[in-house]
Amino acid sequence: MGSRNRWVMGLLPTMLGFGLGAWVVSSQYAPAQAPGGPKAPQAYVSDDPPYRALDANLFMQTAAEYRACCLQAYNTAIDRLKQAVAGKKDGWKPAVVLDLDETVFDNAGFQAMQLRSGLAYDQRLWDRWEEKSADRIGLIPGAKEFIDEAERLGVGVVYISNRNNKYREQTKAALTRLGLPLANESDLKLSDEKTGTNKTSRRQEAEVAYHVLLYVGDNLRDFDERFRFPDLSKATGEELDAAVRNRNAEVDATRSMWGNRWVILPNSAYGEWLKVLGRGKADLDRLVPVAKEK
Ligand SMILES: [Mg+2]
Repeated sequence: MGSRNRWVMGLLPTMLGFGLGAWVVSSQYAPAQAPGGPKAPQAYVSDDPPYRALDANLFMQTAAEYRACCLQAYNTAIDRLKQAVAGKKDGWKPAVVLDLDETVFDNAGFQAMQLRSGLAYDQRLWDRWEEKSADRIGLIPGAKEFIDEAERLGVGVVYISNRNNKYREQTKAALTRLGLPLANESDLKLSDEKTGTNKTSRRQEAEVAYHVLLYVGDNLRDFDERFRFPDLSKATGEELDAAVRNRNAEVDATRSMWGNRWVILPNSAYGEWLKVLGRGKADLDRLVPVAKEK
C-alpha cells in the first residue's frame, strides 16, 4: 500500500464517522456551454465541493506560473528586507513575520488526499493532518531562501499561524525537518481557544517584541483583520456581491502596502476569499458580467 493509501486508510474511521457516502462524487464539474453548441441543460453543473477545487489545486501543484508567482513574491520580500536593513537604527531588534500554511509550508498532500477521496474540507480532517502528517509538509518555492536571507542579515523570524497550538510539537518538528529556524519559543505563535483565527493580538505581540519590517502571507487576514468577511451565512446574492466589492475596496485602500510592507503569495485552493462561494450553481452569480475599466 502506498503512503497516500495508508494515510487515507488511517482516516477511514473518521471518514465513516462523517458519513462519507454523502460526499462520494456523483458527477464532474463541466463548462456552462460547449463551444458553438446549444445551451446545456442545468443538470450538468455539479455542486460537488471537492471537484470544484481540482483545477485550483492543480494550478498550485503543477503550473510553473504558480512557482514563478511565489519566487516573484519572495524576491520582492528579499529586496524590501535588504532596503529596510540598510536603513537600520541603533538598538532596534528587527524581525519578519510569516504565516506558515501555503506561505512557508506546502500542504499539497492534504489537498490531494481530499480530492482523491472525494472529501469536502472538514476541520477534523485538517486536525488529523496537523497531528499525524508533519513529515509530509513541503516548502513553498522561495520561502527557505527568504528565511535564510533574514537570518544572514540578523533579522528575526516570527511565525504567526492558525495551526492548532495543541499540535505545537508536530509543527516544530516540521520546521526542524525543513531546516527553518525557531530562535525563541515565543517566535512561534499558533492558534488556541483564546486567539481563535484572529491574528491581531499575535501581531501586536510581535510588534512589541520586535521592529517588524515585513509581513508575508497567503491570506489577507495574515496582514489585517479588516479583510475578514462578515457573517455571510444568511446573506442574499446582493449582499454577497457587496461583501466581495467591499473587500476589494479594502485592498485598494491599502494599495501602497502591497509589495512593500506586505508581501502576498497566491493561494487558489482555499482562503478567506472562498467564504462567499460554495453555494452550488448560485456561485455562477458571482461571475462578473463585464470587466472593470480600472
Ligand atoms: Mg496560510
